[in-house]
Amino acid sequence: MNDLEKINALTSTFTPVIDTAYQQGDYLAIDLSEENESLQKIDITSVAIFQDYITELLEQNNAKVAYGGYMEKRTLYKRSKHFFAEKDEDLERNIHIGLDIWAPAKTKIMAPLDGKIHSFQNNQNFGDYGPTIILEHQLEDFKFYTLYGHLSIQSIENCQIGESIEKGDSFASLGDPSVNGDYAPHLHFQLILNLENKRGDYPGVSSRQKIDFYRKNCPDPNLLLKIY
Ligand SMILES: [Zn+2]
Repeated sequence: MNDLEKINALTSTFTPVIDTAYQQGDYLAIDLSEENESLQKIDITSVAIFQDYITELLEQNNAKVAYGGYMEKRTLYKRSKHFFAEKDEDLERNIHIGLDIWAPAKTKIMAPLDGKIHSFQNNQNFGDYGPTIILEHQLEDFKFYTLYGHLSIQSIENCQIGESIEKGDSFASLGDPSVNGDYAPHLHFQLILNLENKRGDYPGVSSRQKIDFYRKNCPDPNLLLKIY
């Protein structure tokens, strides 16, 4: 088996990473790509307007949780110089390499499989993750990581490096816009094969120039979660 097949084999059905009160049927796929024309009509740099957009979509579709965004090219990041590269489109970071799950602040975050706390950090750039936890998962013959971004401050206050986390444990909660990098509340969930010696942080958005590397190093989170 290759690494992707090994990750895929770890779960056989829908595996929640947020509060189990939300069932698979409560999830709605949303499109935040630059091709989505309805996004071009609203000011997505405003958290309130963006939250209203998601809330309305959920209500219209009788859903409770919105998700999506793996390999999605987004215009949203233009608002933050954390992602910006002046005059070189190939270097501008705008391709999202994790999966976003949009749910209310304080929603519990659950481990989708056994692991231990590798590292954590509050990444405080505007538009960045805010509080972030990385779990390490050691399988028999290989190791990989899961990253959880846009958490609450409380999530990292009680965190201890090396602490074991079992599948289904609630080990964190979602932050609000005052701490999560100024976004409507959501979890950024990402798989990482080679963490490149980083701690508490890892890019969640890639430039076009580096996307081949990140596509391989950060496989589709749905391999593990099986939301769709
Ligand atoms: Zn994200």
